[in-house]
Amino acid sequence: MIWNPNKECMSRELMRELQGKRLQKLVQYVYHNVPFYRNKMQEMNVSPEDIVSIDDIVKLPFTTKQDLRDNYPYGLQAAPASEIVRVHASSGTTGNPTIVGYTRKDLAVWSEVMTRCLTAFGVTRDDTFSVSYGYGLFTGGLGAHYGVENLGATVIPASTGNTEKHIRLIRDLNITGIACTPSYALYLAETLDKMGIDKSQIGLRVGAFGAEPWTENMRKEIESRLGLKGYNIYGLSEIMGPGVSYECQEQNGSHINEDHFYPEIINPDTLEQLPYGEQGELVFTTLTKEGMPLLRYRTKDLCTLMDDECPCGRTSVRMSRIVGRSDDMLIIRGINVFPSQVESVILDMPEFEPQYMLVVDRVNNLDTLQVQVEVRKDYFSDDIGSMLAMKKRLSDKLKSVLSIAADVRLMEPGSIERAQGKGKHVIDKRKLQ
Ligand code: ADP
Ligand code: ZN
Repeated sequence: MIWNPNKECMSRELMRELQGKRLQKLVQYVYHNVPFYRNKMQEMNVSPEDIVSIDDIVKLPFTTKQDLRDNYPYGLQAAPASEIVRVHASSGTTGNPTIVGYTRKDLAVWSEVMTRCLTAFGVTRDDTFSVSYGYGLFTGGLGAHYGVENLGATVIPASTGNTEKHIRLIRDLNITGIACTPSYALYLAETLDKMGIDKSQIGLRVGAFGAEPWTENMRKEIESRLGLKGYNIYGLSEIMGPGVSYECQEQNGSHINEDHFYPEIINPDTLEQLPYGEQGELVFTTLTKEGMPLLRYRTKDLCTLMDDECPCGRTSVRMSRIVGRSDDMLIIRGINVFPSQVESVILDMPEFEPQYMLVVDRVNNLDTLQVQVEVRKDYFSDDIGSMLAMKKRLSDKLKSVLSIAADVRLMEPGSIERAQGKGKHVIDKRKLQ
C-alpha cells in the first residue's frame, strides 16, 4: 500500500520541478526572516533571485550542528514565536541538545510523512501499534505517535521503561506493531525470555526500528526473536524527527520523503556534491518547513543515495543504511573503524549475544582497541580451551574486517548494560585524558 501516490510516485521531472519551486520560496523566506542565512548569503554574494531550479542548491551555504549551537536557542527560527506550537530537542548523543520549534503546518507535514512510512511497512487501521520510543523532548515518541493516529491505527503510547508491563500489554491488547530503537527491541526480546513468554504467545508482526545505526544481521536477530518483520526508519530532529526516510517492502534502501526533505551527498572534506552511488555525508534541505527551516544541513551521517527504479512503484531517491556518523567513526592507529563493522561480525557468529562495547585507549602513545562481547548462555563454559578458541575465532574475523587487531574480552551473558533508547557502544578513553 502507498499512502500518498501523488507524491510518493511522482515522475522525476515533476518532482524536480516541485523541489525547485519550493526551494525558491524557502530561500526567499529564510533570507527575509533569518539574519544568519541573510548574512551567509550576502557573504557568498548569492541573492534569492539566483535560485531558480533545484540544481541551484549548490550555490547555497551549508548549516552545521555548530551553527545551531551558536544560535541557541531560537536564533535560526524563521517563524514568529506566536506561530510555534511545539518544541523538541535532539537527544544530544554527541553534545548539547539543539532546540527545534514547529508550527502547526510543520506538525501536519510530520504526521503525513510518518504515515507514509507506516503504510510502507504494511501498518493499517486495523493494527494496534505501540510507540516505544521515549516520549518527551526526543522527537521519536510524539513523532511516531501522531503518525499512527493520522493513519487511523490504534496507538499505545507505551514509551520506554516498565518493560514487563509493556510486554503484558503487547500480549493482552494484541499489539501488532511497535516503533522503537533496535537496542530496545533486543531488550524487549530478552525480557520476554526472562518472563517465560514465547514469541508465539504475542502477536507482533511489524517493527519500525530507527534512531540509531543498525545492521542487517541485527535485523535478522530481532526478527527471529520477536517473530516480526523489521523495517528501517530514519530521521533527525533538526530536519523533522522520525519519518525523513523509510523502507518499502523491497527493503533495498530507504525512500526519502523528497518533496519535503531534499537530499545531497557531499565529500565532507571538500564539501563538493557527490554523484549518486558514492558514499559521503548526507545533507538535507527542508523544502517546506516553517518553524526552523534549514539550508543544506550537514547530518554527519554517512551513506549513499540511489536513484534507480524501485519495484514498489515509489519514485523517490533512496538512501542506504547509515554506515555510521562521521563523529562515531573511530580513528585507531590511523585506521577508520565504525562500531557497525564490529556489530556485523559479532552478529554473524552464533556464539555471541548482540551486546558489545568498544573501549578505545592510548597506552604508551599507541591506540588500543578492546572489544567486549557477551557469550550466549549455551556457549559459555568453564572449559578454557574452548573459550580461548572462541576468542581467537572472533579476533581473527575482526582483524580481517577492521584491518587492525582488537583485544577481545569475552563477557558473561547479561553483563553489558542494556539501553532502552539509543544504544551506547563506544567508550573512548582518549577523549577523557
Ligand atoms: P542526536 O543527534 O542527538 O542523536 P536525534 O535524536 O535527532 O539527535 O537523532 C538523529 C540521528 O540518529 C541521526 O542523525 C542518525 O545519526 C541517527 N539515526 C536516526 N535514525 C537512524 C537509522 N534508521 N539508522 C541509523 N541512524 C539513525
Ligand atoms: Zn520501494
